[in-house]
Amino acid sequence: MIDLVDAIALVEANATPLPPRRQRLLDACGQALAEPVVSDVDSPPWDRAMMDGFAVRGDDVAAAGGAAVELDVVVDLAAGDVTSLVIRPGCCARIMTGAPIPAGAEAVVPVECALDDPRAAHAGSRVRVQDRTFRTGQHIARQGTAFHAGQAVLPAGSVLGAAEIGLAAEAGATHVVAATRPRVAILSTGSELVSPEAVPAFGQTRNSNGPMLAAAVTLLAAEPIPLGVAADRPESIRAAVAQGLAADVLLLSGGVSAGDLDLVPEILGRCGVEKIFHKVRHKPGKPVWFGVLRREAAAPTLVFGLPGNPASSLVCFDLFVRPALMILTGQPRASWHLPRSHARLTAPARSASDRPVYLPCRLAGPADALAATPLPWTGSSDLRGFAGANGYIALPVGGRIHDAGTDVEVVLRAFR
Ligand code: AMP
Ligand code: MG
Repeated sequence: MIDLVDAIALVEANATPLPPRRQRLLDACGQALAEPVVSDVDSPPWDRAMMDGFAVRGDDVAAAGGAAVELDVVVDLAAGDVTSLVIRPGCCARIMTGAPIPAGAEAVVPVECALDDPRAAHAGSRVRVQDRTFRTGQHIARQGTAFHAGQAVLPAGSVLGAAEIGLAAEAGATHVVAATRPRVAILSTGSELVSPEAVPAFGQTRNSNGPMLAAAVTLLAAEPIPLGVAADRPESIRAAVAQGLAADVLLLSGGVSAGDLDLVPEILGRCGVEKIFHKVRHKPGKPVWFGVLRREAAAPTLVFGLPGNPASSLVCFDLFVRPALMILTGQPRASWHLPRSHARLTAPARSASDRPVYLPCRLAGPADALAATPLPWTGSSDLRGFAGANGYIALPVGGRIHDAGTDVEVVLRAFR
């Protein structure tokens, strides 16, 4: 049995980034760019109207000094319309947000400044406008003021979230060179396991780890490959493991404790997977197993034998699998692990006498004054206490009660 920090260091030492690859933009959602995105257009691509109203010459309206001005409407321009007409003195264009500003015009007077019914103010008619705060240039987004063609709008290393995907799309990047999404095979072991669709008979347990781990993998922008359930028989586990070892990462759950039917470590060894560690001094999740299948021509497969108890499996995923996936996808060190902070307990929490413990909690309040409420939790088979948890209370070995009001270390999971 090894200490948690040593186990985490061993995972970090054995994970290396997968080679980046060129891929469709949306396939790279959540990944870091390996090459910058360079725009093929200016943004805005031309001078763009930012209001519905009238595109005017600056002098025509400025000269009125806030008084009413009457102009000839010479053209109607909806978004998507273009014109070769030049706006002459005394004239204007009826214009909609998103249309290109016609030549000669230097500002947009908002439609609210029309003194008559603006519905009548279209090409061929006249309009009276009064804009008391008018200035030349108003309500126009000028060409190239956000970025220019040829400019790198997203540097290498940018993680592609919604804004970045939108920006890359605007810049014309249908494909990007970004980190490769790791393929993560997921195998649940246990003869007692039945599919979540089944109503479990006496002695049977629904395979909740399979969907749970697939969800955790998906949320980290990796690709889950569900391999279903293998019974606690060597041939059954071996066949599924052989399949799973073709992936970048193989997650097994169950079968790694010390029982007679805990066959996973031995089978992995027979399949050529080198054991890095087995059993870590922490709770829940002590039986966790980690190893590597090394190959000549290809990247190694990282293999995690997670404990069968669902809460243990989840905690081990957060502590060990998450950093591995972050490293495989080339993310910076600062994002490898869930962030840690401090919080004040709102209710007592009990530490374990033999191992550091992770207790599910609800964190609330400002980042510099977090409050941690322990969630009711009955032990490693109980996922109920983890549903709705946005953090862990990390208590050192002690076997004692930490009173309400105590400052404790916490691990931040997703805030929702
Ligand atoms: P094991 O690690 O195989 O000794 O399993 C420990 C406990 O976790 C047992 O009660 C199993 O029935 C349960 N368990 C194992 N695998 C799963 C799974 N995929 N989903 C839900 N419970 C599981
Ligand atoms: Mg089992």
